[in-house]
Amino acid sequence: MSAYQGLLNGKPGEKMFLLGNEAIARGVLEAGVAVATTYPGTPSSEVGDVLYEISEKAGLKFEFSVNEKVAMESAFAASLSGLKSFVFMKHVGLNVASDVLMSISYTGVRGPMVIMTADDPSMFSSQNEQDNRHYGHFAHVPVIEPSNPQEAKDFLKVAFEISEMEGLPVIFRTTTRISHMRGSVTLSTIEPPNQNGLFPKDGRSFVSLPSNAYHFKEELLSKMGRLGKTDFSGTLNRTEGDRSSRIGFISSGEAYNVLMDVLNKHQVNVEVLKLGITNPIPDAIVKDFLSRHGNVIIVEEVDPIIESDVRAIADLGFPEVSIHGKMDGLIPMSHETSPNTLESSLSKVLGYEIKAGDLYRSKEELPPRPPVLCPGCPHRATYFAVKRAVKMLKIEDPIYSSDIGCYSLGNYEPFSEADIMLDMGSSIGVGSGFTKATDQRIISFIGDSTFFHAGIPALVNAVNNNSRMLVVIMDNDVTAMTGRQPNPGTPIALTTGRSRNLSIENIVKSLGIENVKTVDPYNLKDTLGAIMDGLRADGVSVVVARRECAILRDNRMRKEGEEVKYHVIPEKCSSCFNCVENFACPALSVSNGKVTIDPVLCDGCGVCSQPYVCPFRAIEVTTNEN
Ligand code: SF4
Ligand code: SF4
Repeated sequence: MSAYQGLLNGKPGEKMFLLGNEAIARGVLEAGVAVATTYPGTPSSEVGDVLYEISEKAGLKFEFSVNEKVAMESAFAASLSGLKSFVFMKHVGLNVASDVLMSISYTGVRGPMVIMTADDPSMFSSQNEQDNRHYGHFAHVPVIEPSNPQEAKDFLKVAFEISEMEGLPVIFRTTTRISHMRGSVTLSTIEPPNQNGLFPKDGRSFVSLPSNAYHFKEELLSKMGRLGKTDFSGTLNRTEGDRSSRIGFISSGEAYNVLMDVLNKHQVNVEVLKLGITNPIPDAIVKDFLSRHGNVIIVEEVDPIIESDVRAIADLGFPEVSIHGKMDGLIPMSHETSPNTLESSLSKVLGYEIKAGDLYRSKEELPPRPPVLCPGCPHRATYFAVKRAVKMLKIEDPIYSSDIGCYSLGNYEPFSEADIMLDMGSSIGVGSGFTKATDQRIISFIGDSTFFHAGIPALVNAVNNNSRMLVVIMDNDVTAMTGRQPNPGTPIALTTGRSRNLSIENIVKSLGIENVKTVDPYNLKDTLGAIMDGLRADGVSVVVARRECAILRDNRMRKEGEEVKYHVIPEKCSSCFNCVENFACPALSVSNGKVTIDPVLCDGCGVCSQPYVCPFRAIEVTTNEN
């Protein structure tokens, strides 16, 4: 049985210990979603992993789309055909899809449609910590925020009901802690999806021409006005604690969990209003709450969005109530609301003392683990070859323009091959831009999935503007960083025939780029040669460095019963340390002045045995004989 089959087979009333994202996937089944789409991105990826695996048996149509914009357009089309649709992504993915969002809020939806955004406060795996609840205000759409896996599953169903009620797309906002926390979840009945989609020509327009959009806006505001007056007590919103307390708290999402930890730890009994819908702010329940408390503190992450709304309500009707939160500096504006931060922020207002050793800490101080490319990672060999080529051609001050993916780890030493990295596809766009500003040589690194996602338009632009640059497409067969999901270039065998395996080379050549070479990065000689050729050429040249992700390779070899390891022959090792200092595979280390290879970590790629890395031929494959 597959890893996620239990999510499909679980019976109503049964309890499962689920990751937030697994609970959301179960919620998708219980809500009867017919079409689900995504572009993988941490911390949302596990939802897609589950749905990809079980969609066929669940009768659900699932798509790994080429990017978030297309994913949202695809889900919108399902909605226009009357089907229940779900699109999910990480928070920065919603920037890519925002062009769609800003229009579909105006046109409205036909079948219920929910958009999940998984935000990443404190930026565990992201380039920023934007608070996507802003999109709720920006696009005038409802925002739902669960606080645990049970709510993640149950609130998703309510989100679909709200979407159906008002014909609006609904934003479902999780954060890393909600998506990745585990908790007990009581299952409900799975609703079989209705797959009979039909786009009826019933006179309703979804054409965003100005003459239509003018009226759509008025409708949109009245829908949101109605929702602001709808009572969601008992489903999404609730109050708890002492109604007569001097201080009251308003909170949502993960921040609510942290708040309750701190209040319980210090045995503070105050009233807390927990909001599950944070846009539109539920006017009546907030007014009722303000009428009972002289001081109200808002605890949320990341930006003061609830706080701004509550302050607006208080300004108009409750000027005597003092509002506190991020805007007056009580709680920090940046990063996650951690227990330690909140405990210190609230100590003065709640009147408890924090003694030394009181703060939340793990018992053991864990050693720092800087991120590194895996042993056997083909990107390490590519970075090694590029650095070598730059040195051999005596290129001074090249600009390395990097992109989003595992290969962004090329930023770290010994490679230091990332001078700029912004967003999906930016390596080529920014790289091409540099050619207009400087004569420095430009090397852009982009992964296969990122190339399909947003690299192609940037490459068209570079060719069209005759930019002189080398683009290195690091193709490891999958969207590796988020869990090795398939992309349009993934070999058919790895997608069990569910997608096509488009040729990156054909796409690149079709743009008129003549200098296109494909190499296996494990072959340093060929890779070095191709990169040097690319750096010598005029215009745009492309090197496709293709080799499966080391983890895929491991899995494949384990299945085939193959195990390859390398070792250092001490008598041959000169202790030059070229391998450790310039190649830096984590399996290599120095012990008693000699290099050794940890056989547990060694992936058997053999790149370190090549003379570019070990000029003394001191590294050899391990056989029974040696
Ligand atoms: S490159 Fe070869 S000779 Fe130099 S330290 Fe490493 S194993 Fe020893
Ligand atoms: S063969 Fe060398 S480079 Fe490859 S994983 Fe083993 S130690 Fe690392």
